[in-house]
Amino acid sequence: MRSRRVERVRGWLAEQELGALLVSSAPNVRWLTGFAGEGMLVVDDGTLICTDSRYRVQSCEEAPGIECAAEGGHLEQAIARLEACGAARVGFEAPHLSYASWQKLAEGLGGVTLVPCGDEIRRLRAIKDAGEVKLIERAASVADEAFGRWRGALEPGITEREAALELERLMVLGGAEKPSFGTIMAAGTNGAKPHACPGRRTIDEGDLVVVDWGAQVDGYCSDCTRTLLVGEVGEQQRAIWQAVRAAQLAAIDAAVAGARCADVDAVAREVLRGHGWEKEFSHGLGHGVGLQVHEQPTLSQRSEDVLASGMVVTIEPGVYIDGWGGVRLEELILVTEEAPRVLTHAPYDL
Ligand code: ZN
Ligand code: ZN
Repeated sequence: MRSRRVERVRGWLAEQELGALLVSSAPNVRWLTGFAGEGMLVVDDGTLICTDSRYRVQSCEEAPGIECAAEGGHLEQAIARLEACGAARVGFEAPHLSYASWQKLAEGLGGVTLVPCGDEIRRLRAIKDAGEVKLIERAASVADEAFGRWRGALEPGITEREAALELERLMVLGGAEKPSFGTIMAAGTNGAKPHACPGRRTIDEGDLVVVDWGAQVDGYCSDCTRTLLVGEVGEQQRAIWQAVRAAQLAAIDAAVAGARCADVDAVAREVLRGHGWEKEFSHGLGHGVGLQVHEQPTLSQRSEDVLASGMVVTIEPGVYIDGWGGVRLEELILVTEEAPRVLTHAPYDL
């Protein structure tokens, strides 16, 4: 599977008339080789992982059969290889190479034309193969199970931070390597901040609580959000929750292969407009998920991406009101030619 990915990159290099590519984005290196440590990758007629002695054993285990250099600096080894391969034009990942590293590269490869490339490998990563989908599904089910157990034991009076830590603990005990990102646990008015950091505030009776969490399994992430209510449900709380859920369901229906991401975003926005909450939906509808929790494609008003079969994306509309709180509901879906397959299954009731 991985060698086919490298072949696709080589095909792209040939189109661009590049003799080699320096891959410096860690998730791109991992996607192409399996190696999850620190380092870089040179793709020319062969492939060379450039890392250091800390990762010698790990690179052999994770990327068997791929040549690895583990003496000295990552970039120095890459320069030596790029020089030796004799390519006249060498591509580098402009979004993922620091200016300082680029300077070193330019100094080390005098006479070679360095060609800034965009995020081609990240673009290739947007479409998942069956093995990747399986890992994302595993991550989602670990996260779902942990959430079910966590919710059953949730007691008012606990702080956001304690509640987040407990959910993360249950995910790790349930098979996650780690949470796929820092859990968001936003009670009451904190829910108005879409990316609130869990703090000392306690979760009390009558609070809406936005819980956004995910597990990482074999490098692959899940991402899911539910909004819970502790105690009696107020009228406005219920109305907003239902509007967000309706927006989410409509957008999921629209998220089929060939749909423009901006159009799918507009479907959710339209439903919220109908309920009078469009202005309070202050972020994009969703994003791709894979080795990174945020990757391509982007589902937003300005996105030019188009959905394709095999993409795994989130659908996460929300309503945020300063001084009141927020409601966000997020589902992870696999895009297909027909109705999308929903990969997250945490319970929905308030
Ligand atoms: Zn999320
Ligand atoms: Zn998300």
